[in-house]
Amino acid sequence: MKPGCPLCGSEKYTIIYEHLQFPGASLVKCSHCSHIYTLTSYQPANDKLYNDGVYKVVENRDSLFDKILNREYKRVIRKISSFKPLKGSLLDFGCGKGKFGSLANKNGWKVKGVETAPERAEYAKKIYGLEVDTNFFTAGKIFDIDFDVLTLFHVAEHLSQPGNLLKELIGQNVKKDGLVVIEVPNINSLQAKIAGSKWMHLDVPRHISHFTPSRLDQFAGDLGLVCQRTVFFSFHLGVLGMTDSLLKLFGYRRNIIYELKNKRSLVLKLAIVLLLPLAFPLEFFSAMLKRGGIVRKYFIKRKQE
Ligand SMILES: [Zn+2]
Repeated sequence: MKPGCPLCGSEKYTIIYEHLQFPGASLVKCSHCSHIYTLTSYQPANDKLYNDGVYKVVENRDSLFDKILNREYKRVIRKISSFKPLKGSLLDFGCGKGKFGSLANKNGWKVKGVETAPERAEYAKKIYGLEVDTNFFTAGKIFDIDFDVLTLFHVAEHLSQPGNLLKELIGQNVKKDGLVVIEVPNINSLQAKIAGSKWMHLDVPRHISHFTPSRLDQFAGDLGLVCQRTVFFSFHLGVLGMTDSLLKLFGYRRNIIYELKNKRSLVLKLAIVLLLPLAFPLEFFSAMLKRGGIVRKYFIKRKQE
């Protein structure tokens, strides 16, 4: 990984948190462009990076979590369709297991995905019949078309050089006036403040960039994107993140997603049930004040510098 700020390249920074949960990792703020990012002494290889319980592929269709996800994704698809009522082609970059893509497909969109994690890509192809490209994107056209819509859900924070990659991705694969949807964790959120260096969505060292909504806007502006709408509420990542942050106030040190996927202990389930009546309204009001755990922005591609 190149040293320096992932967005502007400057090597000057101030430290926000030292000694994060990953050895040798700190959270720093670029002195030049104010971007917040992860500084690590070394970066493990990709297969090791994503080969733990948080990113494990589990079969959870028909679970409560899956139903929540369904509702959330359907709401996003309705919003996308309100910008693009003709429902053309949609590229879900970093499509994971393909759930969002399959719902968009059912809704009338012609969806293709990109996913480099073999197990997830395989799931998306087999279970949802999605057309998925598994190559690491560097440049050029991925499929033979220009897409009407590009979605990037929790992708940008993982990229070591998001500027170069997204410039090429958007420049070569999205129509002029196409819609680009970007969702990332919100480092400016209340739940990030509550949990501090233990915030679930820091997810170091996998998350390299930690966007504030305004830095995301500025970054997208440099890519020729113009923001049309911003949403701060997500039930599954926002409310779950708030629940995790509240648990951390009580000394909880693990990762709620990992535990729910892999252990499902009764004590944790009970704690979540008790905390949800507090976490839900707290996250809801945070989102109204633009301090929700995620930020999702809908952009129109105008021009590229
Ligand atoms: Zn910078």
